[in-house]
Amino acid sequence: MNCKLISKHLEEWAPLGAAWNKDNVGLQAGKLEREIKNILLTLDVTAEIVDEALTKNCNLIISHHPLLFFPIKKLNFDNDSRSQIIEKLIKHDITLLSYHTNLDFTKDGVSFQLAKRIGLTNIEFLSPSSTKRKKVVVYVPLNSVEVVAEALFKMGGGSIGDYSKCSNQINIKGTFLGSELSNPVIGQKGNFETVDEIRLEVIFDEWNINNAIKTIKEVHPYEEPAFEVYEIDNPNFQYGAGAIGLLKEELDENDFLLKITNDLSLSNLRFTKGSGEKIKKVAVCGGSGSDLLSTAINQKADAFITADVKYHTFQDAEGKICLIDAGHFETEVPVLQEVKNRIDYFLLSHQSNSQVLLSEKRTNPIEYLKTNKESLN
Ligand SMILES: [Zn+2]
Repeated sequence: MNCKLISKHLEEWAPLGAAWNKDNVGLQAGKLEREIKNILLTLDVTAEIVDEALTKNCNLIISHHPLLFFPIKKLNFDNDSRSQIIEKLIKHDITLLSYHTNLDFTKDGVSFQLAKRIGLTNIEFLSPSSTKRKKVVVYVPLNSVEVVAEALFKMGGGSIGDYSKCSNQINIKGTFLGSELSNPVIGQKGNFETVDEIRLEVIFDEWNINNAIKTIKEVHPYEEPAFEVYEIDNPNFQYGAGAIGLLKEELDENDFLLKITNDLSLSNLRFTKGSGEKIKKVAVCGGSGSDLLSTAINQKADAFITADVKYHTFQDAEGKICLIDAGHFETEVPVLQEVKNRIDYFLLSHQSNSQVLLSEKRTNPIEYLKTNKESLN
């Protein structure tokens, strides 16, 4: 089992193309062709994390936050910590992959896992993705439809919600007249030909269109396959930001706050009081999700849990929605268990003995001072 197979498996769930366009996701350092020993999962990459990987015989680290986000102009191994981490990774043949906003924006990603951790049901995206989908139409002779359709499905086409391999297949008649230079698979050059064909329609995410066209050119039997790509305006429900769902039973604000403290193992949280109504509908966004406050209010959520919330954002929420800052690390860390489950399942189905380990290091740089004062009372 090599790193490439693991990355491919994870990217079918959280495609790199789903990430924010300024993000830097995927391979950060090392080789994808490397055979895996064990795998270490972490939110952040620090020198201590690389040491932990070495101690636990891991040669693949998968982090949520990318190590390389801002351009690095010098590799200064004397006193630049990022350079030193890169040196250590290379020296010890460790591959580093990072799945950041692609994991934030995918179904069952960061925010869905946070929603599940606090027991929400009927979980949906809080805000559907602004990325578009496109319709690929290709004209295929009858006996090649299955091959072309399967190849497009394999490239990620035809997936709508919980359904895969979705397509339209319409019987049509195609015509062509090949020049003297042509070499038609059906009929003869210089003859006006009429052929029974299928108009095959498959939906793709816009970032995947080039792969769709490449696939058509590779598997279509014709010398010059006819295809079209159409813009469609449907919202993309495959990906999105944040999540929203319902508590199994409504709770008083105070009981809800205590529940969140317990579910997320928090020693502290910051919040502002909402409308005073009981809490039933809850919006969440793992990490810095303040931008989604107005969406949470518009969707009539009683509470919104996120992190990195500013003073004036609390002011905007006060009296309207119970806004909770539960910590950046604390709201993102639940996703690691889901990543582990997915890789465990994949390794098992490939008879691999490699282990997937959750880091035991707390990479959260934020500490809370313990005082005698009681909070939440
Ligand atoms: Zn984050």
